[in-house]
Amino acid sequence: MPESYPMNGGNGTYSYTQNSYYQKTGINVAKRMVSEAIGEKLDINNFSSGSNSFRIADLGCSVGPNTFTTMQNIVDAVQHKYQSQGLASKFAEFQVFFNDQDSNDFNTLFTSMPKERPYYAVGVPGSFYGRLFPESFVHFVNSSFALHWLSRVPEELLDKNSPAWNKGRIHYTNASDAVVDAYAAQFTKDMEGFLDARAKELVSGGMMVIITLGCPNGMPYAHLAAGIMFDCLESCLNDMAKGGLLSENQVDSFNLPVYAPSPKEKTELVERNGCFSIERLELTNWRTEADPRGDLRACVMHVRAGFESIIRKHFGNDIIDDLFERLLKEVKESFHLIQSSYMGGTQLSVILKRK
Ligand code: SAH
Repeated sequence: MPESYPMNGGNGTYSYTQNSYYQKTGINVAKRMVSEAIGEKLDINNFSSGSNSFRIADLGCSVGPNTFTTMQNIVDAVQHKYQSQGLASKFAEFQVFFNDQDSNDFNTLFTSMPKERPYYAVGVPGSFYGRLFPESFVHFVNSSFALHWLSRVPEELLDKNSPAWNKGRIHYTNASDAVVDAYAAQFTKDMEGFLDARAKELVSGGMMVIITLGCPNGMPYAHLAAGIMFDCLESCLNDMAKGGLLSENQVDSFNLPVYAPSPKEKTELVERNGCFSIERLELTNWRTEADPRGDLRACVMHVRAGFESIIRKHFGNDIIDDLFERLLKEVKESFHLIQSSYMGGTQLSVILKRK
């Protein structure tokens, strides 16, 4: 049973709804890519139109609003394709399957859904590391900013007798090789399960777009702004342990289950699976389209919206406000590091086609 780490639900100050701006910027970068890929690569003539509906799945959709924008983009691109080929009536209807873990705030998702939408909506609870749909069922799969969440923290990290015991650290950033390897091995296992399941569920010729955190081949994660942010979070937790606000043991046993693969790792996994052709695979740079309003406070709010629930589950409610106030201070002090971090693409965008 995979662990679950929902984004902050509802619509309040710390919610994912209010704090998913960077993901949205990243999705805008990918929008062009998705439209082009559908325009150039989707073989609509090959699909059987048995039920007369084009089925799209968004895996790890969270609570919106980004999922609604992305689904609209995909429907627009597919419709445009059909119209340009004089096939507008072949798939007259669209069905969108919104997937996330059972613990996701599906109520917020459903109540904030656009009233006017060009598709029938379905909620699909469950982990995308296992099967979610019948065989040869979906025509298009999207997954944005979700597949860098591992299904679990690698076990060795918690074993005091293992070389991968991650004492005093909360991630593989700046950690030992054994820790980095344990994360990579878990990522490999998870991605294998994901690709196997999708290979069964996608119709032949169906397409899949995956956007996640990524890292250039061979580059340590500490060179990336996200790695520096994780380091800051780690040092705040360690400071709080030193000050007796939480125990050292609690920090030692906490690890962020997030992995940013390199293009090379991703390519090898897809090739090993063998069921998909790689139509595109590239690191894109969301910073080029980032909004100048984005500031350090906004960055910290994003980290809070994404990680609060997993931190709360491990450390309890009481430390949360204090921790994120400390984090803002720590990040401000580390601003020079963030400024000199790797400025190239750190978003891995992949387009695959079911053979
Ligand atoms: N796609 C949205 C949300 C990204 S947040 C966007 O781009 O804005 C990441 C989401 O992935 C979270 O809602 C989390 O619950 C979900 N997620 C993580 N692991 C998952 C899994 N194994 N199965 C399904 N959803 C998962």
